[in-house]
Amino acid sequence: MTKTGQDHLKSLRDGRSVYLNGQLVGDVVDHPAYRNAVRSTASLYDFQADPENEELMTFVSPTGARVNRSWHLPESYKELVQRRKAIEAWAEQTNGFLGRSPDHVASSLAGMMMRPDLFEAHGSKRAKAFTDYYAYVRDYDQFVSYVVVGPQADRSKGVGEQTEEYTVAGICDEDTQGITVKGAKMLGTSCILANEVLLGTIQPMKPGEERYAFSAAIPMSAKGVKLLSRKSYEASAGSDFDNPLSSRFDENDAVVYFDEVKIPWDRVFVHKDPVMCYAQYHETPAHVLHNYQAQIRLMVKLRFLVGVARKVAETTNVISYPQVVESLGSLAGQAALVEGMVHGMEAKGTNVGKYYVPDRHLMYASQVQAQRMYPEVIQAIRQLTGGGVIMLPSSINDFAGEETSELIKKTQQSPVSDSKNRVKLFKLAWDAIGSEFGSRHLQYEMFYSGAQFAVRNHSFRTYDWGKSIDMVDRFLSTYDLPA
Ligand SMILES: Cc1cc2nc3c(=O)[nH]c(=O)nc-3n(C[C@H](O)[C@H](O)[C@H](O)COP(=O)(O)OP(=O)(O)OC[C@H]3O[C@@H](n4cnc5c(N)ncnc54)[C@H](O)[C@@H]3O)c2cc1C
Repeated sequence: MTKTGQDHLKSLRDGRSVYLNGQLVGDVVDHPAYRNAVRSTASLYDFQADPENEELMTFVSPTGARVNRSWHLPESYKELVQRRKAIEAWAEQTNGFLGRSPDHVASSLAGMMMRPDLFEAHGSKRAKAFTDYYAYVRDYDQFVSYVVVGPQADRSKGVGEQTEEYTVAGICDEDTQGITVKGAKMLGTSCILANEVLLGTIQPMKPGEERYAFSAAIPMSAKGVKLLSRKSYEASAGSDFDNPLSSRFDENDAVVYFDEVKIPWDRVFVHKDPVMCYAQYHETPAHVLHNYQAQIRLMVKLRFLVGVARKVAETTNVISYPQVVESLGSLAGQAALVEGMVHGMEAKGTNVGKYYVPDRHLMYASQVQAQRMYPEVIQAIRQLTGGGVIMLPSSINDFAGEETSELIKKTQQSPVSDSKNRVKLFKLAWDAIGSEFGSRHLQYEMFYSGAQFAVRNHSFRTYDWGKSIDMVDRFLSTYDLPA
């Protein structure tokens, strides 16, 4: 049976510890800070369970379960594209505003699963733990989130050099049952909406930092896992009409504190090995596959954002100016660039063993462009909207008041739209580009995969410099000082 929204809602009623505004939240499913985001996530599972979408969205796993295609390990270009179509269709359900939908970390785990030899070399027990875990989360279509970066604290120091020993989550004890983990991870996007969390360290570590060099997975409800929720934008959204995006897609980001959490050995995949911690992401296609998912999602989001931009320009009729057409053309070019990169990654893909994965460097190249481009796109849409996104009724209640609704009609005019639809569009535009939710999205696109210097280093590391340097050397060898 394909997982449904109801199955997901039920699974979140697990007694997890979420803290908000100084209080322990009882049940996230019905809490006003999370209930709509929870349902948006659940609706993704309903979408895949719909008989019309089952073939697009799911495949039959080796054990016979019908599960989301992000768990599939593609063996050809055709299968990679088929898998992408499922990721794209899910992103379309949220216009790309759920950054960490369940297919993100599933992609990461799928990438790790393509290199069982790497885990074997680390230890056969750890390899078995990982492959068993993969089979479990795949066959139960679990929503896994991840926390792989330590809290900022002092960024000039390594994870093991902070003032307190367990500022960054580390192994504080271990016995025959498993490890005990204490300390924090910086930001768990979607943890509140997910079933499980994968914790690890993606930043390079030094010898001596072994206690921080592990990777493991636990259910959100595990004893001692404390989710410190950031402010909920959903809770202050007012209504769907006033904040159509914040009210539905506030996936939340929580600091995760591990208060001496016991993790059994069969959930520990990397143990006290800084090299393996890094290799788990970079010597397998994990980093490429989860960031490829993110580029597919961004492609969908940009498609949506340029649509908003064009509708705004039509509504105020600034589209009649050639400069505005030029600006829209530039935005369309930026959206298409990411789309072209996604298709390029697939066409130029390579084999990792029997698996077919997207081209590594094109993926990083796309991320480098995206980190610079997203703020430019937001800035360009702000230019187009002008004060229209501020000149708005305070809330839907203004439409209910007789006098205020008449005033809205007089003040919210457009050559192509009535006043209600003008307000509706501009409120959507503001939620996407300027509200606290929109602003968090700007920060998200700039940082979710690491700061710019980190992403650019990956691009540096994976570019085919040999080809470039050979060209330059060949050309240099064609001339010299006159004899
Ligand atoms: C909205 C959002 C959601 C996120 N979700 C997740 C998640 O689900 N899971 C997860 O694990 N992480 C998540 N992250 C965390 C993300 O991985 C980190 O933000 C990212 O790794 C960058 O680290 P940082 O934010 O501490 O920035 P820092 O490393 O502190 O960098 C801040 C700035 O300092 C400068 N800087 C820092 N170090 C250097 C250096 N060595 N050389 C040169 N300049 C430097 C750069 O200018 C950089 O832009 C999320 C982040 C955001 C903003």
